[in-house]
Amino acid sequence: MIRFNEPPYTGKEMKNIQKAIENMHICGDGEFTKKCSEYLERTTGTAKCLLTTSCTHALEMAALLCDLKEGDEVILPSYTFVSTADAFVLRGAKAVFVDIRPDTMNIDETLIEDAITEKTKAIFVVHYAGVACEMDTIMEIADRHHLMVVEDAAQAIMCTYKGKPLGTIGDFGCYSFHETKNFSMGEGGALLIRNPEYIENAEILREKGTDRSKYFRGQVDKYRWMNLGSSYLPSDINAAYLYTQLEMAEQINEVRLARWKQYYELLSPLKEAGKIELPIIPEGCVHNGHMFYIKTKDMEERTSLIDFMKANDVLTVFHYVPLHSAPAGIKFGRFHGEDKYTTRESERLLRLPMFYQLKEEEVDYIAGKVKEFYGA
Ligand SMILES: *Cc1c(COP(=O)(O)O)cnc(C)c1O
Repeated sequence: MIRFNEPPYTGKEMKNIQKAIENMHICGDGEFTKKCSEYLERTTGTAKCLLTTSCTHALEMAALLCDLKEGDEVILPSYTFVSTADAFVLRGAKAVFVDIRPDTMNIDETLIEDAITEKTKAIFVVHYAGVACEMDTIMEIADRHHLMVVEDAAQAIMCTYKGKPLGTIGDFGCYSFHETKNFSMGEGGALLIRNPEYIENAEILREKGTDRSKYFRGQVDKYRWMNLGSSYLPSDINAAYLYTQLEMAEQINEVRLARWKQYYELLSPLKEAGKIELPIIPEGCVHNGHMFYIKTKDMEERTSLIDFMKANDVLTVFHYVPLHSAPAGIKFGRFHGEDKYTTRESERLLRLPMFYQLKEEEVDYIAGKVKEFYGA
């Protein structure tokens, strides 16, 4: 059976985990947490990166730092993971969903402005499959209306938009190191902060509302309860696992991109024949091979293909059920405008196995089976 996902593993993780244990520092902010955040700051150029317990928590921190409250509205796509909305719904803010673009499955930037009301405080964008949203337009709209921009870049580490790393363009960027993502620590994430003015508050928020980070740097002689907070820092054991992967990030990325291109080339004849659609990467976007998906004619065809692949020992999966049609989405949000593509495109999208350990021969086999299904 070819799994849909396997957690990324390089074989060298144990050495760093052992080191974390020998350091006698397995709680947060030890050697490996520092190394991971420094690596992410260096490679993205962001003002500050804080390692967190998940991307969900990084998004929650972003919602708190944006000061989102009861009655505020946040614009986002409906085609996303629940965490994008949970983050601010927890603060009492309302979700205003707008339609996606069928080419990238990202928020349609041309529909954002019409959804803005006097209650709108922020735009939460999602870079689906590591392919950038149209950030120039989005940042321009946000500037004009004084809105905060949060990038859910859970899938988009090592991706760029017109040369800029995703996660560093909006006010805050959020990465995920869940085991389904390109680099992992089991459960984990990171918050990227563009404007240094937010760093102090973010550190306080992450350390239970205290100025403990300053205390550890010797900047204050005792730490105190300063503001709202929670515990968003991961164990250094998990960070040790992640750091091993970040040290090999280029290699992991290259392997994923090679598998992605292999799928694309092998399945191109089906696309030429008009049987399926393949991902579209707009000019100016560099992705990271996070995901390979195809689009079938409709949901019925997709279900048959999933069954066919399963019968041939390959697990394929569909993705998000649009949030606006889910019970909590109805309760906490509304769809602005027409749902032209969100539902329709989500029902056609099918993800093929994609992970670091996936072999070239396996991609050959999987693509061969998809072709067989379509009689090619
Ligand atoms: C994976 C993912 C998340 C959640 O990440 P966690 O680290 O599991 O909290 C949020 N948004 C998107 C778009 C994701 O793909």
